[in-house]
Amino acid sequence: MGPVCRMASFFIRAFDIPMALNIFLGRPRARSETPVNQRVVTPGMWQRINAERWSVDRLLLHFGIERAPVPVEQLATELGVRLERVTGADWDGMVDSRESPPIISINADRSRTRQRFSIAHELGHLLLHDPGQRFRDNFSSMGLDLREIQANQFAAKLLMPSWMVNAYARVGARLTALAGLFDVSPQAMRIRLEQLGYNVT
Ligand SMILES: [Zn+2]
Repeated sequence: MGPVCRMASFFIRAFDIPMALNIFLGRPRARSETPVNQRVVTPGMWQRINAERWSVDRLLLHFGIERAPVPVEQLATELGVRLERVTGADWDGMVDSRESPPIISINADRSRTRQRFSIAHELGHLLLHDPGQRFRDNFSSMGLDLREIQANQFAAKLLMPSWMVNAYARVGARLTALAGLFDVSPQAMRIRLEQLGYNVT
């Protein structure tokens, strides 16, 4: 390579040609930074999980949750959710992601296992569905809305992850003992075991 070629390749490497052309022609440089007023507020953990469509297993792995019962209330707090308990309500749970931080409200008159399922279900709405919405749930009169089915599936997977159930479920294991271990209702445990292919008698 002769001296002229070396010189040319040096200039090509050293200069951004379009930028040099813009300077030469007197054009303003393109803005590479987002203007301050258009920056998105630093996302909370729940927003990141929602945006990245994390699986339940990734969520459990991230928070180091390895054994039953899944600490769903603590998980909600760590995700940056405000958890409220109300009495005298005619619904089971509510989530409002229009608020910052988002609020999950739980009917404190329900059983502990129902409350845990409600928190998991509302987390499902928060992590699976578009932010900026409000859901109010009454499990005794739940329809066949796809988002409700998804939130229920999320709750079942979160409270009873397949790998965790497989680790505990043994031939002859009693349904009530497993439900107690996972801190869920026997009914929820039965549905989950059947989903995972166990023969529940
Ligand atoms: Zn719901």
